[in-house]
Amino acid sequence: MLPPPVRLYLCPMDERKNLIGLDRDELAAEMAAIGEKPFRAKQVWHWVYNRGETDFARMTSISKVMQARLAERYVVRRPQVAREMLSSDGTRKWLFAFDDGNEAETVYIPDVDEDRGAVCLSSQVGCTLTCRFCHTGTQLLVRNLTAAEVVGQFMAARDTYGEWPTPDDGGRQLSNIVVMGMGEPLYNFDNIAAALKILMDGDGIGISKRRITLSTSGVVPMMRRCGEELGINLAVSLHAVTDEVRDRIMPINKKYPLAELMRACRDYPGASNARRITFEYIMLKGVNDSAADARALLKLIKGLPAKFNLIPFNPWPGSDFECSDMADIKRFSDILQDAGYSAPIRLPRGRDILAACGQLRSDSKRERCTRLKARLEAGIPDERHPVPAG
Ligand code: SAH
Ligand code: SF4
Repeated sequence: MLPPPVRLYLCPMDERKNLIGLDRDELAAEMAAIGEKPFRAKQVWHWVYNRGETDFARMTSISKVMQARLAERYVVRRPQVAREMLSSDGTRKWLFAFDDGNEAETVYIPDVDEDRGAVCLSSQVGCTLTCRFCHTGTQLLVRNLTAAEVVGQFMAARDTYGEWPTPDDGGRQLSNIVVMGMGEPLYNFDNIAAALKILMDGDGIGISKRRITLSTSGVVPMMRRCGEELGINLAVSLHAVTDEVRDRIMPINKKYPLAELMRACRDYPGASNARRITFEYIMLKGVNDSAADARALLKLIKGLPAKFNLIPFNPWPGSDFECSDMADIKRFSDILQDAGYSAPIRLPRGRDILAACGQLRSDSKRERCTRLKARLEAGIPDERHPVPAG
């Protein structure tokens, strides 16, 4: 007997090209292709990235004829909000769904007592690097995010706060960007670089490079380019002071061990006492949190323009570690501060909304699987995951 025919239930896709994610040259090329003069590209750029406009009909400096021509071929589309959660401390987390149904997380973390804060962007769906303490590391890499999806995360976050047009005076809640969400940004450098250049553009969103920090687990060969081409701040997820421990908790250390990583930090373009490299250090009970570890850390970064960020481990179901005791974290911080370094203990934020990296996506996937199972049992195929109909 022949197998039953496969019925596909795909979402109808909009064939029009999304203008979000195009850089100035690409936008100019699109405008040229539809017979428009170069200054039109500048106008569209301003509408899209400075005013945050998504409807061509409201781009009033553009003729009605051109508006119609644009609407025929293009869209200005953000990722869809699949879930949104607001913590009691003001931290807000979105799970964004992209055109192919993949999802990634974005978080807004307000500064305590201040009217500004950082948007934490994801760079990949999942991660290849399997750091033992990281929830994202348990999710296989699905794919790199495109420049459009990275810029789109920021723009969609800004929609929530109504910060369009871009305020001239810098007075905005979403004042900073940290590329510290899901994924390893230096394994998706070209797309991240393209996205950050768009986000930095002064006639668009206009976030200064001094307000942008990229966090890497230590992809040594890409660090120099990050400094040279983008000039942004660097954060390094160090988390251990010996290769033995780092190999165990961060498998990337086997490829780029501590000595190489520290050399790349010393060579990071633009690092200075005014622009220090942040060393992130996750506090894992009994693993890396002794006084001797703190002193070894000082030795390791000697001579480097460094500051620290001590991160209490945020546990997740099934994780193998415990967070260090607060007294041990405090002792660790005191040793670094007594040596003259800034070493704040990062306040746990948004714990009530699963703020550990990668948790919201897993939670949503689990829910979807349960829904899909129920639909299959009831004989109803799922639109997003086509299955043979029996
Ligand atoms: N891949 C990059 C950026 C994303 S991870 C990197 O590793 O730097 C961002 C930061 O969150 C890293 O410092 C990472 O070590 C930390 N992190 C991951 N899981 C965590 C957890 N469960 N609790 C606290 N911090 C965590
Ligand atoms: Fe990937 Fe960073 Fe998580 Fe490691 S800590 S698994 S590099 S996202």
